[in-house]
Amino acid sequence: MSDAATDSYIAVIIIKDCIGCALCIEACEVEAIPQTFTGYISTIAQIDKNLCNGCGKCLPLCPQNAIKLVKISYSQY
Ligand code: SF4
Ligand code: SF4
Repeated sequence: MSDAATDSYIAVIIIKDCIGCALCIEACEVEAIPQTFTGYISTIAQIDKNLCNGCGKCLPLCPQNAIKLVKISYSQY
């Protein structure tokens, strides 16, 4: 409702579906998916929310459909 609000998108990993195949890394032109995987169960992809621009290029490469784009809203102040 506020005209100062801006909508944008960011990719998120669905941890339970990610198998750590690393195909998404090659898709990301801004290197928002770190080369080093860490996870509490096994290796998983992690997306740096400060680098991801929501371009969506990593989504079609994921064999597990484990990446989603979510809308984020923030206000300028
Ligand atoms: S949505 Fe784009 S910028 Fe974000 S992680 Fe995927 S390929 Fe990289
Ligand atoms: S392509 Fe999908 S399954 Fe493979 S590491 Fe990336 S998010 Fe995980």
